[in-house]
Amino acid sequence: MTEGQAGQEAACDLCRGGELFDLFGHDREGHRVTFALARERISIIDQLKSMSEEELLKVRGIGAVGLSLIRERLKEGGGLNETLHQRQVQ
Ligand SMILES: [Zn+2]
Repeated sequence: MTEGQAGQEAACDLCRGGELFDLFGHDREGHRVTFALARERISIIDQLKSMSEEELLKVRGIGAVGLSLIRERLKEGGGLNETLHQRQVQ
């Protein structure tokens, strides 16, 4: 609990928070990706992990920029990129 930037993490005007919002962050790009996923009923990291890159590219509003953000974040979250790769190869 730090003072100063009041409620930067806890309170967001744009979303109610959640696993994916925490993963992608509350900046413009993070929200864009997370809301795009939410429209596809993807709201938890496990669902995201089970998707291939091809499937993610089909999600409206994600695109190449969103995909690279997803890849990056999942990698930071523990090498989940491997799963995406395997699925893509099939
Ligand atoms: Zn937010």
